[in-house]
Amino acid sequence: MAYQIRKAAVLGSGVMGSGIAAHLANIGIPVLLLDIVPRELSKEEQAKGFTMEDSVVRNRLATGSIQKLLKQKPAPLTAKKNLQLITPGNLEDDLDKLKDIDWIIEVIVENLDVKKSLYEKIDSVRKDGTIISSNTSGISINAMVEGRSEDFGKHFLGTHFFNPPRYLKLLEIIPATTTAPEVVEFMTAFGENRLGKGVVIAKDTPNFIANRIGTYGLLVTLREMMARGYSIGEVDSVTGPLIGRPKSATFRTLDVVGLDTFMHVSKNVHDQTSGEEQKVFEAPEFMTKMVQNGWLGAKSGQGFFLKK
Ligand code: NAD
Repeated sequence: MAYQIRKAAVLGSGVMGSGIAAHLANIGIPVLLLDIVPRELSKEEQAKGFTMEDSVVRNRLATGSIQKLLKQKPAPLTAKKNLQLITPGNLEDDLDKLKDIDWIIEVIVENLDVKKSLYEKIDSVRKDGTIISSNTSGISINAMVEGRSEDFGKHFLGTHFFNPPRYLKLLEIIPATTTAPEVVEFMTAFGENRLGKGVVIAKDTPNFIANRIGTYGLLVTLREMMARGYSIGEVDSVTGPLIGRPKSATFRTLDVVGLDTFMHVSKNVHDQTSGEEQKVFEAPEFMTKMVQNGWLGAKSGQGFFLKK
């Protein structure tokens, strides 16, 4: 089968979903960006007399994410006009539109059961031959595809983008055992030639390659800090611009990634390891408290740093 990506759908319009949608729009691909329907009306919507049936309300999350693209720095869009290529919608009313899509990218919350229940819905509406991928940070790709149709299995794989998707060149591609080799080949070429990425094919092991090494390093750093009394500022100084890594200071990066996402990602390896190895992947209690407080990083305005 000759594959072609003329239209894409990004499911989940959070930090990564909106960034991936922008990256696709930048290369001229029309994108349907879908998110969940909000649970209730906002005060503003109530004041304007909207009901939960109005599409303005039902599409609020994706629409809001698209609007934020213009304010984000570094800019996710190469030109403002690229916004026209992104159409907002929601995962209840617009699932049928997935029939016309060549590549569906799932970028929702890092939870296997939630992702699987969305795949079940997608499986019943997608056309045969549609490529489906997950942007999971480390959940098993084989576990995600369990129970799905044969055609879904052949066309499903992990495409793990890094944050921010326009700027970070790494794309991990993780085939499931069911993925057809020609789909892996096509997506690798598409990732390199159209998305401008450096593709690394990773095995389906917990957290793949980059996040396995990354979470390990971060959790060891946190432990060393607590044991030796290093400050956040000191650690960022020795891991950031001063040693030639302008964008990778430890805590600045954690704020960009999102503390909740980091906790999901480290828990994922934690739950799939044992003994001494598992202990390394135990996140410190203060991180749990930060997440409980809603200190999620840049997306909530407060993480290790206050967003200016
Ligand atoms: P996010 O919290 O910014 O966005 C998650 C999105 O999922 C939100 O738009 C939310 O409305 C939606 N959602 C929540 N519950 C849902 C449900 N029940 N059904 C459907 N959608 C639901 O998260 P993110 O950082 O964009 O992460 C999304 C995915 O990308 C995760 O799998 C994450 O592990 C992965 N990822 C994140 C990063 C990062 O740096 N943040 C990097 C690479 C991969």
